[in-house]
Amino acid sequence: MENNFLSAFKKIISIRKKIVIIPHRNPDGDALGSALALKHFLDAKKHKVNIVSPNDYPTFLKWLPGESEIIKFSKRPNTARDKINNAELIFGLDFNSLSRIQDLSEIVRRTKVDKIMIDHHESPEFFANHNYSDPNMSSTCEMVYNVINASDSKLLNKKIACCLYTGIMTDTGSFRYPSTNAKTHKVVSHLISLGANGSDIHQKIFDSSSMSRLKLLGISLSNLVKIPDLPVVYITLSKEELKTCRYKKGDTEGFVNYGLSLKGVNFSCMMIENETEGKIKMSFRSQGNFSVENFARNYFNGGGHLNAAGGLSTESLDKTIIRFKNALKNHISELI
Ligand code: 5GP
Ligand code: MN
Repeated sequence: MENNFLSAFKKIISIRKKIVIIPHRNPDGDALGSALALKHFLDAKKHKVNIVSPNDYPTFLKWLPGESEIIKFSKRPNTARDKINNAELIFGLDFNSLSRIQDLSEIVRRTKVDKIMIDHHESPEFFANHNYSDPNMSSTCEMVYNVINASDSKLLNKKIACCLYTGIMTDTGSFRYPSTNAKTHKVVSHLISLGANGSDIHQKIFDSSSMSRLKLLGISLSNLVKIPDLPVVYITLSKEELKTCRYKKGDTEGFVNYGLSLKGVNFSCMMIENETEGKIKMSFRSQGNFSVENFARNYFNGGGHLNAAGGLSTESLDKTIIRFKNALKNHISELI
């Protein structure tokens, strides 16, 4: 973290303010964990803080301390708009382009107040006037830890630790992706000593599947296709398959990773026909140097990280599969 950023952060929060914190659309453990941890910290500093999420999130995140107070724009648009328009400071967490907050982007763009971005995705657009952007970081939660620890570490407490632990854990695939380093473990060790219970949090996040989610996983695995002669697989889920399994938000979380568990595979793609997301929600995961961030950005209007990215296709499932296969042809030498 640059000293400039830290001193600007400390100066801006030295005066009590109405603050809005915004995570990206379809917030995950890292987006919500970082937003809630920052809220608890700023609450302790006597600010008036609201979190406005663009939309809803999976049930397995609905236990995080303070979660019930989050305002969802998709459910309460007028309240959400008022909070943003009256804010004296806006934080954007775990995203680096306003397009990632969709309906909220225009509202935020029109505000004249200070904006602070904290994010670890590639290709930042620097929409804020104070930016802490570092794609080498494991998670936005680790960055929020750095900010809190460097500005007023005595305010770190159990609630904050639980929120931050959750985001670091989910974004590192339980501390196994290459972005996990000694520093990450040091941070996690501190969070545990503050009261975050790792096995309890793992259980809350990962052991809360419904029967229908497991059925959907079964269908996904039987739909897995290996591309001949390439270390690539893709998985599809049609809207009929989602309906049969009474799909709920978050049910497909993590499915794309199963593709990478196949020996020799280093690129996995998941295509989900999800009408509320536009058309086909694309998820990409890789192992090694193949940049799914570039792939998502070049072919599917998306982005993310080197090894984990997402995007959208507006075509049918069948046409999207063809487009995916054609796109692969441009990358054969990088893949083998
Ligand atoms: P997932 O596949 O889990 O939805 O997303 C993987 C990563 O890519 C996450 O870090 C997420 O924030 C990012 N991501 C997902 N969808 C999009 C998208 O449509 N655009 C961009 N820029 N990033 C995305
Ligand atoms: Mn993240």
